[in-house]
Amino acid sequence: MESEKDTKARLYSRYPLSSVLIYNGSTILHFLLGGIGIALGYSFSPWAGYTFGILYLVFSFVEMYVIMPLTVCPNCVYYRAKDWLCVSGLNVLSKRIAKEGNLKDFPRRAEGLFCPNNLYLASLIVPLLAIIPALIVNFSVALLLIFLAVVGLLLFRFFVIFPRIACLHCRAKYECPQAGAMGVRNR
Ligand code: SF4
Repeated sequence: MESEKDTKARLYSRYPLSSVLIYNGSTILHFLLGGIGIALGYSFSPWAGYTFGILYLVFSFVEMYVIMPLTVCPNCVYYRAKDWLCVSGLNVLSKRIAKEGNLKDFPRRAEGLFCPNNLYLASLIVPLLAIIPALIVNFSVALLLIFLAVVGLLLFRFFVIFPRIACLHCRAKYECPQAGAMGVRNR
């Protein structure tokens, strides 16, 4: 007899390559445009633009491609199974750089002010918060277009990637707090 889980959206042990590319492509584009936008927006100062832009790029890439595989992925179900591939592909990286954790600790990714989930959200939202004042004091059409592109990428992530491409098909969605917040567990 089919279980309730089997009647819902298909769960991927290995995400299609297209999903992995969309997820990482939009993530990297978001970070790069955010860093360029911050650098451009504060370019009226000889040091602030490049400094803040580079700091943001380092923060966002380290958070996503170092902190996540070191702290979150070892507790994820995708870390354990041979040949599985999660939507970010970070389970493959994590296996090379981190020791296996505990499945029970996976929901802890959302616990605490500086938890990986909050740092992840910060990496997505910081460029928007930084570019808005820059648009007021140092407006340019290029900066406005970058801002709109980052807004678009953020909306695409929350309304398409998470609910349709990533979390909906994820085998960790029954434990993952983000899947709970996205409302995809029962779909
Ligand atoms: S449910 Fe979403 S956020 Fe959670 S592990 Fe899966 S893809 Fe990542």
